[in-house]
Amino acid sequence: MGFLGIDVGGTFIKVVKKDNTSFIQDKIRIEDCHKSHQGFTDTLIDIIQKYKPLKVGIAVAGLVDKSGRITSSPNLKYVENLNLKAILESTSGISTLVGNDANLATYGEYVYGNGKGSKILICLTLGTGLGGGVVVEGKILEGVSGCGMEVGHMIVEKDGELCSCGRRGCLEAYVSSYGLEKIYTKLSNKFLSSFDIIKSAKRGEKRAIESFEVLVDYFSIGVMNLVHIFNPDRILLSGGIVENYPDLVEKVKLKVKSMAFPLPASILEIGVGSLGSWSGAYGALAFAENYSS
Ligand SMILES: [Zn+2]
Repeated sequence: MGFLGIDVGGTFIKVVKKDNTSFIQDKIRIEDCHKSHQGFTDTLIDIIQKYKPLKVGIAVAGLVDKSGRITSSPNLKYVENLNLKAILESTSGISTLVGNDANLATYGEYVYGNGKGSKILICLTLGTGLGGGVVVEGKILEGVSGCGMEVGHMIVEKDGELCSCGRRGCLEAYVSSYGLEKIYTKLSNKFLSSFDIIKSAKRGEKRAIESFEVLVDYFSIGVMNLVHIFNPDRILLSGGIVENYPDLVEKVKLKVKSMAFPLPASILEIGVGSLGSWSGAYGALAFAENYSS
C-alpha cells in the first residue's frame, strides 16, 4: 500500500512511492496528447492504479483552493477550474490531496531534505518563474484560501518590468529565467537565453555578470522583505538558475545579511535545497502521509 507523491510539472510528472522506509522514484514525460482535461486525468489515474497507494498527494503549479480545485495555472491551462481531487477520488477510490507545488516543495525539504528541524522554513525556487513556500513549526502556511506565499508576485519596483501575471514590478519579473533574459537584453541590446547568460557569466562576460548583479539586487530586496516579515531560521534556494549558477547563493546571503535588521539576520541560515527538482514530489508524498483530506 504505502503513500504516493506526484508532482505535475510543465514537461514531466515526477512520482515518489514510499513503502515503510523504501522509496521508488519515477519520471514520466507529459506527451502532447495528454495535454487535455481527459488525457491529463487519465494519465494520473494510470499512475495511481499502477502503485495502488493508501493515499496520494499531488503537487501542481498554480493556485489550488481547499476543495482541490485548480483555480489558475500558468503552465497547465487545460486543467484550470478542474476539481482534481474530486475527479481522481471518484475514479480511483483512493483518498487524494492536491496542493500548490511551491508550498509542497518547501514541505518536502522540511520533511525529507535540508529543511529538517527548522522552526520557520522558507524555500524559494528560481526557474521559469519564482515560487516560494513557508513551513511554520512543521505546518505549511497555506493562507485562508490555500494560496498564500505567492512570493514571486511581491512588488519590488513601482511600474517596473512586466510580470507573467500581468502586473508590473513583481519580484519574478527580475528573478526568474525570463527576468534574467529581460535584464540582459536591456543592458546589451541583444537577446540570449537564460542558459546562455549563465554560461557567459561563468566565462566572465561583462554584461552577463552585470545582469546577475541586477538580479541579485532585486532578489536580496525580496529575501530581506521575507526575513523582516517571517523572521525565519532557514531559507533554502533551489531551481535551475541556482543549480547552474551557485555563486548566486553566497551573493544573496552577503547582501541580505548586510541589509536586514541584525537580530533576524543573526539567526538566519541561507543555503540550498537538497532534493533538487524532486522536492515537489517528496512534498506531495509527505502531504499525503501527514495531512488529512
Ligand atoms: Zn507577478
